[in-house]
Amino acid sequence: MSLDIQQIRKKFPILDREVNGQPLIYFDNGATTQKPKEVLDVLNHYYEYYNANVHRGIHTLSQEATDKMEESRRKVQAFVNAKHEHEIIFTRGTTEAINLVASSFGELLVEGDEILITQIEHHSNIVPWQLLAQRKKAVLRYIPLSAEGILDLSQLDQLLTNKTKLVALNQVSNALGVVNPIKEIITKAHQVGAKVLIDGAQSTPHIPIDVQEMDCDFFAFSGHKMYGPTGIGVLYGKEELLNLMPPYHGGGEMIKEVNLDFSTYACLPFKFEAGTPDVAGIIGLGAAIDFINSIGINEIHDYEMSLIDYTMQRLKTLPEVEIYAANAPHSGAISFNLKLDGVHASDVGMILDKKGIAVRTGHHCAQPIMKFFCIPGTVRISFAIYNTKEEIDQFIEGLKTAIRMLA
Ligand code: PMP
Repeated sequence: MSLDIQQIRKKFPILDREVNGQPLIYFDNGATTQKPKEVLDVLNHYYEYYNANVHRGIHTLSQEATDKMEESRRKVQAFVNAKHEHEIIFTRGTTEAINLVASSFGELLVEGDEILITQIEHHSNIVPWQLLAQRKKAVLRYIPLSAEGILDLSQLDQLLTNKTKLVALNQVSNALGVVNPIKEIITKAHQVGAKVLIDGAQSTPHIPIDVQEMDCDFFAFSGHKMYGPTGIGVLYGKEELLNLMPPYHGGGEMIKEVNLDFSTYACLPFKFEAGTPDVAGIIGLGAAIDFINSIGINEIHDYEMSLIDYTMQRLKTLPEVEIYAANAPHSGAISFNLKLDGVHASDVGMILDKKGIAVRTGHHCAQPIMKFFCIPGTVRISFAIYNTKEEIDQFIEGLKTAIRMLA
């Protein structure tokens, strides 16, 4: 099926605006995507028509808000193919989802237990484990990288021991856009009895997700990177694990009964959802999933891969450009620098911005991988369904201008 990208673009009001006198070309989708009209409309409709607090009220508005919120949970469940809807926990984003696991699952760890992550993680999948390791006197280990900057699994068998309690890694790296071999890692981790958390922040917008097939124990992602609102994210966890874990935050919604000296807790998923949830955000995330489904995640994947292949091909014709992990499988993003003395990624970003082209420059909250390459940062171009080959051509022209100006 061929997609009508122009029709899809019409759904995104922001794509009509100009930046620095030029039509906006938005290639910072790895940071956050733009939002289609149907998501914006659903948010407005909620506030204008049935805004109410959920789960507590018996009045009509509260019922309607609760029904819509729980409908969204089922949409998320179907989107990632979770077995049960109560395995879907709403959080503020990937960061909070990972912190929830580090805090709650982390309580089950004892001194000397090991946590295995990789050198190509976002800070939000490093720092919570450092904090946990300090708190529990656990040991944090890293899967190293090959010279090219992709995971080197040759030492995986030694890194995984019977003390490894958790392995946490991203499915797609936000810094380089590289797809990691999660299947192999999950299988091997399970062989030593370790649980596996997959950071899906950069994969859910681009790749069909099936948590049962993947057999991960936890899967975290953010709504705002997949056409949904900011402030809403998801933690999927296997039911039996979530049931073993202590609550994360205490407060309203998460209790069964509160006494002066002790409390009992609500069943899943509410045990992990203390306080008034981001009702609008949850409903908006449901609308974002409807938007993705209206196109088809497989169709989105195939189209975006054609953009990635085209960009790679065009970038490789420029001798001044160094692409990171160029030969590894990519999804969603490509990271590069100009091989020009004294030139920083931000110089390139500023010149492109003058032409209305938004890319991200810097360390992308992944300083260890930047340190690995001995660079302060990269230029990252990242894609969404509304990007086109014509936009890539303009980006390449902008890059040529930058090379002329900076050489
Ligand atoms: N992990 C990865 C791979 C990411 O790209 C991001 C966002 N850049 C995060 C985690 C954190 O997501 P959020 O800021 O939405 O919590």
